[in-house]
Amino acid sequence: MPHFYAEPLITVLARPAYTEPAHLPVHRIGESSDGERIAEFAGRLCYMSQKNPANRTTREYIENIKKQGHGSVLEHANYSLLIEGVSRSLTHELVRHRAGFAYSQLSQRYVDESHAAFVIPPAILGDDALVEMWKAQVLTAQGAYVALVEKLMDRYDWVDDKVHRRKMAREAARGVLPNSTETKVVATANVRAWRQTLELRAGEGAEMEIRRWAIAVLGVLQAEAPSFFSDFEVYTAPDRVMAARVVYHKV
Ligand SMILES: Cc1cc2nc3c(=O)[nH]c(=O)nc-3n(C[C@H](O)[C@H](O)[C@H](O)COP(=O)(O)OP(=O)(O)OC[C@H]3O[C@@H](n4cnc5c(N)ncnc54)[C@H](O)[C@@H]3O)c2cc1C
Repeated sequence: MPHFYAEPLITVLARPAYTEPAHLPVHRIGESSDGERIAEFAGRLCYMSQKNPANRTTREYIENIKKQGHGSVLEHANYSLLIEGVSRSLTHELVRHRAGFAYSQLSQRYVDESHAAFVIPPAILGDDALVEMWKAQVLTAQGAYVALVEKLMDRYDWVDDKVHRRKMAREAARGVLPNSTETKVVATANVRAWRQTLELRAGEGAEMEIRRWAIAVLGVLQAEAPSFFSDFEVYTAPDRVMAARVVYHKV
């Protein structure tokens, strides 16, 4: 029996590492992460205000950057996330976010999906009858995939390169796999790009799985660097599902 995911799994792979230039130190106040320090340094360089005349904490400074709409300063901090337990339909939507993003996704042409996991659509979670109906369909599809790969390997047995033959079989057989098939993707983006994506995908108009994913990513990134995402508010929307809204929109 394959694994059935009921929520995404988000792991931080990489975060910024700040090195203070000895000849241009910033009078920094309060707690901050390296990502926030890079943004503060970059912002202050513009006006050579390293002495911090307004005595702002790093987090107050970044709050003001967001308020003023100086989004480019936020592009200096990048976070790489390993995203698992999400469906192919979610990543189809995710990769539409291009500016400031880099992606590397599991290849269904190379990877055997005979034991692939599946992601239960949030809207059917909690209703056993619907979940069973959905499971029956995805398991049938996976059975068809396994049979097709086997038959295609036979059909193209004259192809000497076995890796190429397997690729030919899997790339054709994957056509029967459902949108709910689990996939894994590494996504790297700068904070300006993460903010815009989370605003769009955690909003009430977004599809439920990507909305759930966006709320999870928001939590992870808020823990990494609170001031970058402090203006996001998570709430229960009229459809009784969590959503998030932001104070300072993308600039
Ligand atoms: C609720 C929802 C429903 C959607 N439904 C559909 C749908 O039915 N069909 C569909 O195809 N898509 C749909 N989308 C995807 C949507 O159209 C965008 O592709 C996606 O949200 C990425 O946004 P973006 O292009 O702003 O992102 P990015 O490509 O990351 O761009 C970020 C920003 O950079 C700037 N930018 C990027 N590229 C250019 C450029 N070439 N020229 C000028 N400025 C640029 C713009 O300011 C842009 O907002 C939907 C998205 C949402 C959130």
